[in-house]
Amino acid sequence: MRLILNKKHAPAQTQQAQAAMKSIVNMEPDFIVIGSGPAGCAVASRLSEDPRQQVLLLEAGPGQRKGVLGSNAALASLVYGLKSSAYNWGFNSLPDPGLNGRISYNPLGRGLGGGTSLNMLMYMRGNPLDYDGWAASGNPGWGWSDVLPYFKRSEDNQTFNTPDDPYHGQGGPVWVEELRTDNPWHATLRQACQEAGWPYNPDLNGATQDGFRPTQVMMKGGERHHAGQAYILPHLGTRPNLQLQCDSPVTRILFEGRRAVGVEVVQGGARRQIRARKEVVVSAGGLLSAKLLQLSGVGDGAVLQRLGIPTVAHLPAVGQHLQDHVDVILGHHIPGDPHLGGISPTGARSLWRAMRRWRQERRGMCTTNFAEVTGFMRLAPDAPMPEIQYEFVVVLAMDHGRKVYAKHGLSTHVLLLHPKAGAACKLPARAGRMRPPSTFATFRTPMTWPPWSLVCAACCRCTTHPL
Ligand SMILES: Cc1cc2nc3c(=O)[nH]c(=O)nc-3n(C[C@H](O)[C@H](O)[C@H](O)COP(=O)(O)OP(=O)(O)OC[C@H]3O[C@@H](n4cnc5c(N)ncnc54)[C@H](O)[C@@H]3O)c2cc1C
Repeated sequence: MRLILNKKHAPAQTQQAQAAMKSIVNMEPDFIVIGSGPAGCAVASRLSEDPRQQVLLLEAGPGQRKGVLGSNAALASLVYGLKSSAYNWGFNSLPDPGLNGRISYNPLGRGLGGGTSLNMLMYMRGNPLDYDGWAASGNPGWGWSDVLPYFKRSEDNQTFNTPDDPYHGQGGPVWVEELRTDNPWHATLRQACQEAGWPYNPDLNGATQDGFRPTQVMMKGGERHHAGQAYILPHLGTRPNLQLQCDSPVTRILFEGRRAVGVEVVQGGARRQIRARKEVVVSAGGLLSAKLLQLSGVGDGAVLQRLGIPTVAHLPAVGQHLQDHVDVILGHHIPGDPHLGGISPTGARSLWRAMRRWRQERRGMCTTNFAEVTGFMRLAPDAPMPEIQYEFVVVLAMDHGRKVYAKHGLSTHVLLLHPKAGAACKLPARAGRMRPPSTFATFRTPMTWPPWSLVCAACCRCTTHPL
């Protein structure tokens, strides 16, 4: 595999790399995979296990980051502190009538690894009933019993590592380990959750989701292990049939009739077309896949016509019915605690010590994923599955860290997992290729609010010093 980056992110780009770029532009791969998030990385990697298949993986954002940006803590603060950057699309929603006109912030990973290069690293598969629901609504092959073998095959779990474990696998590309923060708050939160009547669950991806535990994370040796590291980079130089091109946003899927035959891509400021002999795989994330399809003429014909985009396939559901979890954050000021992030002389000293420890041992505060303890609960005892996820975050981070407090503290995230929302990915009136899509999400079930606020109150009881 060859890794090609553009000049902005690879200052020492060599003649060799430029020659490789030319060879890619002239190539006609069997498969073009759009987007190098976990979906695109897994698909490109698995397809290229067959050396007869030429696979080209195209990513809009930059490639691998090194040095301090490779640490979990540094990366997360980069993401949460900035509205948008080379590594974060950082979209805003339209004013949402269901949320009293609020505009929601939607951080989204950009670059090799996609969301896994900036997310909170929690190893969470979702609830088996989510998958069974998808299968029942007309998606054969997506039921829990269908997907579980693939989860096991993808995983190298360092905790659940017996060969006969019914839920977990070993030897796969995705390394999963326990947090290495050694944070005494884990014990405090464990006691608080148990006093609130919430059970400890040794495996949130096992027999049941209900309960809490310190988070299992997609890290290797205390460092972020994103999908590019898991699936793509290990094959650098060993699979000549797999090629990755970063800084290459696909602007359109090319069709002959209703058959996708290639892509239009921008590279080094120039627009190029690359044909695929077999298939084009769209794995640009939930929101941007919908945007790209619409820009390529796949969507609601009437809307596309208004925007001047020729319709390839009239599929009104494209970009509709998007689902995301909604997050309420409660902040708790806990003065001067060196085990919680915060801006103060104590915080600066702790951070300095933590950075030294991270460099030497890959342990301690710099290996945090921030959401160090997490769990699930049902709003009603007879609910078929948990509707709430709660996360205890070891820093006072409000509004995705866009509001900074010069205080030490803890944040409790209370996430509503299945809001009956009408989220949609709409193209803006002037459907420029690079313009952000517009999204909105309207609550259609106000009855979920009162029990949700009870959970927030219970989370507050778990901590002692409300902000
Ligand atoms: C802040 C944050 C925290 C999260 N925390 C967790 C967590 O702790 N645990 C968890 O399991 N999940 C978490 N998630 C969700 C998880 O990261 C996503 O579910 C996952 O990354 C989705 O994978 P994907 O491959 O479908 O899309 P993405 O990861 O979004 O990847 C899509 C890729 O396609 C690229 N792309 C888009 N358009 C184009 C184009 N036109 N041309 C070329 N490339 C393009 C993007 O740049 C991106 O790299 C979090 C997400 C965010 C944003």
